[in-house]
Amino acid sequence: MPPYSDRPSMRNRTAAQTANYVRLQSAMKGVSDALMRAARRSMFSFGRREPVSDADANALRVAIDGALPLLDFQFTDPKRQLPSKLANRLRNFRKMLTRMRDASNGEALDAVFAELSGKTTDVWRKFIEYRDEALAIVNALDEEFLESYSVGSYSVQPFNTGRGDWDDEKWSTMKYVLTAGADLLERHGMGRFVGGAVLAYPTRTLPPSAGGGGGALAMYRRTDDIMWIAAGGAPKRVLHSFIHETGHRVYWRFIGNVGRAAWEAYFEGDTGTPDVDAVIRAWEAWASARQVSTADMGMSDSTDEFDRMRYGRYLAYWMRHLMKTGQREMSMWTEIIADKAGVDEKYDTMRDAPRRNQVPGLDQIIAKKSEIRSFLTPVTAYSATEAGELFAEAFAHYIVDGPNRLHPRLRAMLRQAVPIMRVGTGGPLSLRPDYGESDAALPRGGGEEGPSAYRVASRFIG
Ligand SMILES: [Zn+2]
Repeated sequence: MPPYSDRPSMRNRTAAQTANYVRLQSAMKGVSDALMRAARRSMFSFGRREPVSDADANALRVAIDGALPLLDFQFTDPKRQLPSKLANRLRNFRKMLTRMRDASNGEALDAVFAELSGKTTDVWRKFIEYRDEALAIVNALDEEFLESYSVGSYSVQPFNTGRGDWDDEKWSTMKYVLTAGADLLERHGMGRFVGGAVLAYPTRTLPPSAGGGGGALAMYRRTDDIMWIAAGGAPKRVLHSFIHETGHRVYWRFIGNVGRAAWEAYFEGDTGTPDVDAVIRAWEAWASARQVSTADMGMSDSTDEFDRMRYGRYLAYWMRHLMKTGQREMSMWTEIIADKAGVDEKYDTMRDAPRRNQVPGLDQIIAKKSEIRSFLTPVTAYSATEAGELFAEAFAHYIVDGPNRLHPRLRAMLRQAVPIMRVGTGGPLSLRPDYGESDAALPRGGGEEGPSAYRVASRFIG
């Protein structure tokens, strides 16, 4: 198959609309035109009220017959269902259209219009409301296959969804990720794990339809050895996710039962009390420091300073500070410790501030201090959640950032598990164009987003 760059027609797509959406939209236009014509005499005329003509009733019937099948939404995945509220609304919409269609002539249709119109609404307004809702549902949930293509030995199946579409930037991210990713794997002795099937989405995260990977950056399913990738993020981050998923592939297809048992034993065994005090000390110092004069500060700096003074003991503000200042280790340990302490903070969007009367994250951690235990040689907060994620994260950081990113013990364990893995040749930077994103902007460490404290924090900060 030709590479993506030979496909100008695909590359120039910009509308984020699927064929189903366009079909429904055009059917709805047919119905609304016919309804407008049929109802104009009875509804939109002042003074003399005229009955609906039989011809107009006929035209509306034809238009509705064309539209009704498109309003019976079926997911290809039988496990998926519309939320019951939306399903009820859609059912009512179909009922309304069916009643209008079943009117045998103009007079009968006129009677249906009268029945459907209430004190505050009329059949036209009802129709518009239902129609917009149906279109919004399709726009949000529908997805379609585009033609598949190849990048090197990867075969890529792009999906189009109502939430994003394949533009030049996303195509080139996808090509960069697969070519640079393959090259990095080759240069680390992992060439046998290059190639395979990749399902690609143009969104920043995978949609709920992606086999349980909703909200994740990428996913690997070992039963059929398929990878899912959301190509809508920053290229370097997508690359990281891709190598992380390849790490899962290696974990399940290479290291074997014995290797996995050893890895799990390492994960379970290397637990203990992390340096909670170091996090508390640094956080306290930051949160309680004297106010810095805001006179010389730019707008956003003085806002940050104001927030620090008021909300510095809340996790979200501390995490934001750590990310802004690129304190990767501290941010990782804060996240792990907050997760283990079960820190839960609620945000008041009306006031744009933490909710009143709740204990700030720092004080929740201080209260739980003596109970906190965690994995001790992680590479990211997410890697501390589970043995398989530890492997994938370690693999990704070893290959993308180089072996020195790993704790010596983690590095030794990884080399033991994957003896064919080499330190990369050719320099780690040659294939990593600077996309203007520093590591500090990558706090979640590449892989899927786990149920970690940072996610709490990111929800909290909005
Ligand atoms: Zn993972």
